[in-house]
Amino acid sequence: MNDNLITVRDALEYAADALREEGMDTPMLDARILLSRAMGKDMLYLVTHENTALSDEEAARFNRSMTERLAHRPVAYITGTKEFYGLDFRVTEGVLIPRPDTETAVEAVLERADRYAGQVKILDLCCGSGAIGLSVAKNLPESYVTLSDISRSAVDITVLNASLLKVENCEIIQSDLFEDLTPKNYDIIVSNPPYVSGDEMGALSADIALWEPREALYGGTDGLSFYRQIIAEAPGMFRNRGTLIMEIGYGQDGDVRKLLEDGGFENISFRADLAGIPRVVTAEHSGTSRGELL
Ligand code: GLN
Repeated sequence: MNDNLITVRDALEYAADALREEGMDTPMLDARILLSRAMGKDMLYLVTHENTALSDEEAARFNRSMTERLAHRPVAYITGTKEFYGLDFRVTEGVLIPRPDTETAVEAVLERADRYAGQVKILDLCCGSGAIGLSVAKNLPESYVTLSDISRSAVDITVLNASLLKVENCEIIQSDLFEDLTPKNYDIIVSNPPYVSGDEMGALSADIALWEPREALYGGTDGLSFYRQIIAEAPGMFRNRGTLIMEIGYGQDGDVRKLLEDGGFENISFRADLAGIPRVVTAEHSGTSRGELL
């Protein structure tokens, strides 16, 4: 017997220990995902083949991905995919990795869409990988979804995801917020904009700080810059009475409510995430842009 052979069980234990020591949140899960990928098998295979030895190539692949993970590269960037709302999204370093909490925004849009007759027109502003907008489009085949982002890599990844997920009721546009989008055109605008404040940027975990795009995270000194701009300009983008749905950061509900009230929005309500924290705000506006009241 060759002493150099390492079994699935040993590889997982060794890797999970190393990741735990480095302070990772989910060491065993990370190890399982990376090993199943290195072996080209699913996670169940690992459970049923604990005593199977890794081939040299499998061990080498696993070691390479472990080296990346130990440098805090998120598992989703290593594997290039992240599951969101039951769908598989491609992700690269150019886009934020979709978070489970953001599924709350999808739920809010799906619920709200019922209130619009005919084809509901939805805009996902700051779409990143396209997680929110493409999940919505997939679940509402009668709707039409515009996805936009300032970042070229975000637009490219969203185009790829739309094609892999076979979403056809959508368009993808590169735009700095509303700049290159059509005014008076949307019923629902949904957005997960950058909202991390200056202070919070300094306290991000290494996985996020070292690897995720700063421009997808930083929301200005107080974290509210994008909300100010979106709230000021969204009314001019609604074709009739419109709904604005936005993800917010921890503790931003009071400030965002105030901005919405000052901007003439009504029926402001918050939806909690999986941890019970207000995470998504929904608000309505009559759609008349203030400039036109003159
Ligand atoms: N939720 C992200 C985080 O954990 C922030 C996302 C955003 O800024 N839109 O840092």
